[in-house]
Amino acid sequence: MTENETSRAKAASKPLAITRRRLLGTALGAGAAFFAYRWLTEEQHRAETADRSVDVLLIGGGIMSATLGVMLAELEPTWRIETFERLSNVADESSNGWNNAGTGHSALCELNYTPEDDKGNVQIARAIDINEQFQISRQFWAHQARTGVLENPRSFINSTPHMNLCWGEENVEFITKRVEALKASPLFAGMEITTDPAKIAEWIPLAMEGREDTSNLVATRSPLGTDVNLGEITRQFFARLSKNPTFTLKTGVEVRSITRNPSGTWRVSAFGTEDGSKIETVDARFVFIGAGGAALPLLQLSGIEEAKAYAGFPVGGSFLVTENQEVAARHLAKVYGKADVGSPPMSVPHLDTRVLDGKRVLLFGPFATWSSKFLKNGSYFDLPDSVTIENLSSMLQVSWNEIALVNYLAGQLVQSHDAQLTELRRYYPEAKDEDWRLWQAGQRVQIIYNDPKKGGVLKLGTEVVMAKDRSIAALLGASPGGSTSPAIMLGLLEKAFPDQVKGAWSGKLRTIVPSYGKKLNGDPVLIASVWKETADALQLSIPSPDLTGVAGGVAAPSGAPMPVDNEVKL
Ligand SMILES: Cc1cc2nc3c(=O)[nH]c(=O)nc-3n(C[C@H](O)[C@H](O)[C@H](O)COP(=O)(O)OP(=O)(O)OC[C@H]3O[C@@H](n4cnc5c(N)ncnc54)[C@H](O)[C@@H]3O)c2cc1C
Repeated sequence: MTENETSRAKAASKPLAITRRRLLGTALGAGAAFFAYRWLTEEQHRAETADRSVDVLLIGGGIMSATLGVMLAELEPTWRIETFERLSNVADESSNGWNNAGTGHSALCELNYTPEDDKGNVQIARAIDINEQFQISRQFWAHQARTGVLENPRSFINSTPHMNLCWGEENVEFITKRVEALKASPLFAGMEITTDPAKIAEWIPLAMEGREDTSNLVATRSPLGTDVNLGEITRQFFARLSKNPTFTLKTGVEVRSITRNPSGTWRVSAFGTEDGSKIETVDARFVFIGAGGAALPLLQLSGIEEAKAYAGFPVGGSFLVTENQEVAARHLAKVYGKADVGSPPMSVPHLDTRVLDGKRVLLFGPFATWSSKFLKNGSYFDLPDSVTIENLSSMLQVSWNEIALVNYLAGQLVQSHDAQLTELRRYYPEAKDEDWRLWQAGQRVQIIYNDPKKGGVLKLGTEVVMAKDRSIAALLGASPGGSTSPAIMLGLLEKAFPDQVKGAWSGKLRTIVPSYGKKLNGDPVLIASVWKETADALQLSIPSPDLTGVAGGVAAPSGAPMPVDNEVKL
């Protein structure tokens, strides 16, 4: 074979390798199609009158709207709150227990929250921040359990150790440094580490049985981990809200019009998804767009200036699932590995215990999937519909700069079921084909932000985007996600209703979240009391570590500034 033939053969063996040239050609073609499509589509319809006025409209029936609704119902019981949901039930998109991984994100095992800096020091500031957010979730849900808003904690939260399992000399070194670094914070107390195969087999037998090479293995285990069913929390929240005379839930209606009234309130119309003649129109003083992946197009519909800097990039996820009860009974942990070099944080493989529909199942994944839909039950036009003159260049810039991500996704799309099972066997060597099926989970729409200095940047966190006059806000992005929804929604309240948060609501907020306004990291006594009270109320079965005599957390080692998540942009 000549050299040319050899390189052509090599290229042919990588059918989906995406080069920047191919990408540019595709983008130009898509751009032309987009402008033709935009020219043919209609302007939004504005209703002449509203059926009723409300204080707060929540668009979308997922965990975010449910959380905000429950907070506001307690803080302002007389406010009229309404929710519009396009599906016939709440919690059927990303918040549904089957559509996400249910990790109570506390940075106990998610390695992307503890990167190494240039000098090889493990940075823990981001991990502390995520962990602090999850302590707020524990307190918020414990309060709801104590006051009867949430029932039967075992239906929505279960103690599930969070673990790492990695191999290779470099990874052993990194994990060892990470555990050492995390000792600086009492929030991570109780974390164990071992390189002993027998100990790992005791913790997670399925991961060790039949493993040929047990050299250079390392595992960590934290007793503080949880598995969370976000869908169950959402359903229970809406069920309770629906008992309030001041709350209305309309399902099967899709918001397609958001326009501003001269008074500054918002006129929002939702159209029946089954019966197109059914239209619900309200005037709302405050609108929260909690529409998950579809939040961006709705924010754009509102026409607010702040929306113009954003675009979205959808990435879905699928999991291998086994409901074989004999297998599920032998694994109790969320076991996170390390993402392969060059692959994005969302690709970190994990073998998870889940409690779904009242029984234990195991999930392995996620495998990235791609579709132009912004919701699992969305439309293929979601992505083209979200492209505007203002965000087109940042989208192109990100696809150009993030070519590794584009190629990673392309590789995942052509991955066969056999290849997925091979990946599973790296964590569970004796997994049997017949026990596992592939499940399509939800869509996450990653944020593309047009940074005034850097241009288009891809942001993997969540962000509350709010109008200057604080009358409308949307939650964009999906990570760390629903398990930190109480902290995210408290952040929204602080920005949208600053006077009430500092004034009339401040006492109640401290009843709802006792540590509200305080940092836990430097205060082991407070951490111990939060752990105890929340573990009791949420019936967490694995005891929290003993913090008696533990010194306060030290400041995170200095280094490059960490990216800020859950940012609120005004
Ligand atoms: C594969 C995967 C794994 C994940 N793993 C985790 C995890 O381990 N831990 C974690 O904390 N988070 C995880 N997440 C993220 C988590 O699922 C989300 O952060 C959370 O569910 C988002 O809640 P939401 O209320 O914003 O959106 P959703 O639950 O998607 O709800 C939005 C609702 O809005 C409705 N809607 C949309 N458009 C309209 C409209 N025009 N009119 C009316 N209604 C509308 C939708 O039908 C939907 O019901 C994961 C997500 C995915 C996809």
